[in-house]
Amino acid sequence: MKLVTTIDEMLHISDSERAAGKLTRLVPTMGALHRGHAALITRALEDKLDLPSSGRMGRTGGGKEVCVIVSIFVNPLQFNNPDDFSRYPSTFQDDLDICEKLNVDCVFAPHLKEMYPDYGSEQCMVCPTDQLANTLEGQSRPGHFKGMLTVVCKLFNITRPHQAYFGEKDYQQLLLVTKMSRDLSMGVKIVPVETIRDSDSLPLSSRNVRLSDRERQIAPVMYKILTDAKQAIENRPKKPNIYTGDELKGLYSTIAASMVSSLSFNLDTDRADSFEVDYLDLRCSIDLNKLRYDQKMGCFDCNNNCVTRQVTSGGSVAFKTRLLTSVIVGDVRLLDNIEVLLNS
Ligand code: AMP
Repeated sequence: MKLVTTIDEMLHISDSERAAGKLTRLVPTMGALHRGHAALITRALEDKLDLPSSGRMGRTGGGKEVCVIVSIFVNPLQFNNPDDFSRYPSTFQDDLDICEKLNVDCVFAPHLKEMYPDYGSEQCMVCPTDQLANTLEGQSRPGHFKGMLTVVCKLFNITRPHQAYFGEKDYQQLLLVTKMSRDLSMGVKIVPVETIRDSDSLPLSSRNVRLSDRERQIAPVMYKILTDAKQAIENRPKKPNIYTGDELKGLYSTIAASMVSSLSFNLDTDRADSFEVDYLDLRCSIDLNKLRYDQKMGCFDCNNNCVTRQVTSGGSVAFKTRLLTSVIVGDVRLLDNIEVLLNS
C-alpha cells in the first residue's frame, strides 16, 4: 500500500492507473476509521457495479482491475464550529493499519497547507444549490456543505476516480455530492453504502468516542425515535394528514425526553442528561423537498413533483421519503436517517 501526501504524486499515480486501464475508486474520509468506513472500503474493493462482468472473481469491476484510494483529511472548511474541528479525533497510525489490512492500494493523506496553500485567505469554493444545501443540516451548520463540496471536488480532481463511495448515514451529503458530480459533469459515479450501526443501533461515527459513558447510553434514543416515528407514519389510519416539520419534531422531542429520563432513572442518579433534537423531519428522498398532499393524484408528493418518478409497478403510488434527524447529546452532534414509504 502506498502512502501519498503530495498532490503531484497522487495525480501521477491516478493518471498512471487510469492509463493502465484500471478502474480507480475513491473513499473520502476524515480518518478515525471505524467499521462504517471499512464497509465503504470493502464495497469499493469488491464492487462489480453494473458493468459487464467477465465472470472473474476478486478485485475486478466488470473484468477491469481496480485501484482503491482512501483519502484521510480533516477538512477545516466544513467545520462551522472551530472547537469541533480542534477536537476532531485522530488515529492516523491505526487508520493506516486498517487500510493495509483491507488491501487498499493507496492512502492519500495531505497536510493542510498541501490542500489549501492559501489557507486563511479567500479561495474558490464550490457553491451548492440553495434548496438542498440550506435546509436541515445546512440550516444548522451554515457553510458546512460549501466546505464539504469544495474538498470533495478537490479530491475528485486529484484522484480522478471513476467511482466514489459515500455513506447513507450522511444522507444530505450523499445527495449533494451526487448532484455536484452530475451538474458539473465530473463523470464520477457516486455509490451509496448503507449505514453501519453498533449493536444498539447507534450509527458508527468518529465523533462517538467523544460521548461520555452516560451519553453513550442515551444516544441510541436517536434511532428509537426514528423507528417509532416511521412505524407511526407508515401504519397511520388512512388519511392524508401526517405530521412533518416542527410538529413532528415537537412530538418526538417529548417522546425522546421521556425515553432519556427513564434511562437516566435506571442509572440511579438525579443528573439530567442533555439530549436535544435539533431537527426531525420527513422529506422527499430524491431532493429533500418538503412534502405536500396532491389532491388531484390522491397521494403525497413534494414541491418538485418527484412522485411521478416513483410510481410502483402495480400502478399504486408509494412515495419514498426519508426521515432525517440530528440530535445533540452533551456537546456531540449525531446524525441518522431511515427510509419511510408513504402510501396514499
Ligand atoms: P467521515 O470520515 O465521517 O467524513 O465519513 C467518511 C465517509 O464514511 C462518509 O461518506 C460517511 O457517510 C461514511 N460513513 C461514516 N460513518 C458511517 C457509517 N456508520 N455507516 C456507513 N457509512 C459511514
